[in-house]
Amino acid sequence: MSRRGKRLGVRREKLTKNPEVATVCQSFRYCPACGRERESKTDPLCCPCGFRYYFNPAAAAGGLLTDGEGRMFFIRRERDPGRGKLGIPGGFIDAGETGESAVRREIEEEIGLEIGPLDYLVSYPNTYAFGGVLYQVIDFFYVGTVENFEGITLDRSEIREWFLAKPEAVKREDFAFESNGLAVEAFVRRFVSS
Ligand SMILES: [Zn+2]
Repeated sequence: MSRRGKRLGVRREKLTKNPEVATVCQSFRYCPACGRERESKTDPLCCPCGFRYYFNPAAAAGGLLTDGEGRMFFIRRERDPGRGKLGIPGGFIDAGETGESAVRREIEEEIGLEIGPLDYLVSYPNTYAFGGVLYQVIDFFYVGTVENFEGITLDRSEIREWFLAKPEAVKREDFAFESNGLAVEAFVRRFVSS
């Protein structure tokens, strides 16, 4: 799973109707400890050998970056799923990282920006489809201010364009992932609406 690909995903309702997409739990056909075939595909995996596995969501983090003048940083995706739709910088949290350090690393990788302090805002569940498996995800969102966006270097294979816009003017349905739109709405409720 590539780091850049980790931002990809689609909404759960769409995927559960797709017979070719299985949940992570359904995809574990055998006990990874002893190799015994699973009799039931329940969560957690409870094998007679004593092995237990809980199919918890993967953690991801996204950055809601503002310019200090009421505008927020958005990207338009170049790749499916959600090609042409909106997103914010972010990705999966590596083992040992904090949410803040993951956001900082992803922003550096994706748009070449170094950012200052981040404040936690809100979290929303998300899903990520990869290789025919539907992964459950929990997205954590952080707010940061960027003084100068001019130094941005985009990965053009992933990101078509970037722009600054008033967050209250962007619609939830324009995002590739609903969790991103919900986070922007939470930002507006906290910082824009009175
Ligand atoms: Zn076993």
